[in-house]
Amino acid sequence: MSKGKSVLTVKNLNKSFGNFQALKDINFRVESGELVAILGESGSGKSTLLNVISGLDELDSGEITINGISTRDFSHKEWAIYRNHYIGFVFQEYNLVDDLSVIENVELPLLLQGVSASEAREKALEKCKLLGLTNHTHKLPNRISGGQQQRVAIARALVTDPKVILADEPTGALDSENARIILDVLK
Ligand code: ADP
Ligand code: MG
Repeated sequence: MSKGKSVLTVKNLNKSFGNFQALKDINFRVESGELVAILGESGSGKSTLLNVISGLDELDSGEITINGISTRDFSHKEWAIYRNHYIGFVFQEYNLVDDLSVIENVELPLLLQGVSASEAREKALEKCKLLGLTNHTHKLPNRISGGQQQRVAIARALVTDPKVILADEPTGALDSENARIILDVLK
């Protein structure tokens, strides 16, 4: 990607839960290659913002643009395609599928895209290697450590080569050593 091109813009974003306004007129842009951290106390709206950007939750007003594509008039189907193709999401509590192996968790987004089983497996193995998971690919998530589970979650978020990776407190459940490793991987 060329440097200096806005990969994500958020304009005049508002989101309320009933009478409570969680996001009030949020504006920012992220350039290609940038790593941005959003800081704020518990309850300040960080998760809501990421959920709205990723399409996990609906915005009330405003506009999100990713790679020049506005989400303004997206149908449900277009939101699903956008989530699967443009966004990689890493959750604080990993959100792995418990009864799928590591490799099956990582290849899942590709299978949802309709990529062939062999190509999905190949790409998933590549990401597992990148994240130091080669020796754990056939284990179930509850048979590996928290730090390893978070690396599986990152491999799964990266496997589709998304334009934007959104990570919601990705080190929140980890000790400081594993937190450092995860931040290095994301960088
Ligand atoms: P953070 O991630 O910064 O801790 P959140 O985005 O989770 O904050 O929450 C922001 C505010 O919105 C909080 O006051 C929270 O109680 C409220 N909130 C979040 N999700 C919901 C929901 N589904 N229904 C009602 N209120 C919510
Ligand atoms: Mg949160």
